[in-house]
Amino acid sequence: MTEIQRRGLLIILSSPSGAGKSTLAKRLMAWDPSLKFSVSATTRKPRPGETDGVEYFFRTKDDFEAMVTAGEMLEHAEVFGNYYGTPKGPVEVAMREGRDTLFDIDWQGGQQIRRSSLGKDVVSIFILPPSIADLEQRLRGRAQDSEEVIAGRMAKSRDEISHWAEYDYVIINRDIDAAEAELKTILEAERARADRQPGLNDFVRGLNKEFEAR
Ligand code: 5GP
Repeated sequence: MTEIQRRGLLIILSSPSGAGKSTLAKRLMAWDPSLKFSVSATTRKPRPGETDGVEYFFRTKDDFEAMVTAGEMLEHAEVFGNYYGTPKGPVEVAMREGRDTLFDIDWQGGQQIRRSSLGKDVVSIFILPPSIADLEQRLRGRAQDSEEVIAGRMAKSRDEISHWAEYDYVIINRDIDAAEAELKTILEAERARADRQPGLNDFVRGLNKEFEAR
C-alpha cells in the first residue's frame, strides 16, 4: 500500500497525577514505536529508577534557566515548586520527519503549545480519574512520595482538572484497557484527517492518471 506523507502531530496528554497518564503514554508508545516521546527537562530530583535522558533531562535551576534564555524551550512551567519544560529541537526534527510526538505535560504546557505557531498540529487529550477517592488511592499506591507531597499533589489535581475543557478530547480512566483503546481510536482518527495528509493531492493525482490510462 502506498504510504501517504503526513504532517507530524503533537499529541498532548494531561491529567492530574495518578490518573494513569504515564501508563497510557507508555502503552501508546509500545503500540506505535514510530511515536516520539518528548523528554522534558526538569529541575526536580530523579525518583528511584529514573534515568537522565529517559524519563527526563535532570537539570540544575541555573542550567534550566539558561535553556529558557537561549530560546531552547517550546514551553515551560513551574509545577510543584520545580521547573519543567519541553526542549524545542527534538520536536522540530520529529515534525520535519512527519513523525508524531507524544507530550506528557501539564495544562500550562498544553496551553502554551496550543497557542504557539505549532497549535494547528496539536491534538490534546485530558485524562480524568473516575473519582477523587480513586485518584488519592493511586497516588498513595505509588508509595514514593511523602504525605506532604501527596497533599500538594491533591491540591494541584483540583487546579489541573479545572482545565479539562481546554482539551480536544477527554477520557475518563475507569478501566485502563478501555482508556487505552479510546486513546488509540483518537489517534487513528486524527491521523486520517484530510488536512493532516498533504500527500493526498499527489495520491489522488495518481488515481486520476490511472483513470485516464484505462
Ligand atoms: P512528575 O514530577 O510527577 O514527573 O510530573 C509532574 C507534572 O509535570 C506532571 O503533570 C507532568 O505532566 C508535568 N510535566 C512534565 N514535563 C513537563 C513539561 O515539559 N512541561 C510542563 N508544562 N509540564 C510537564
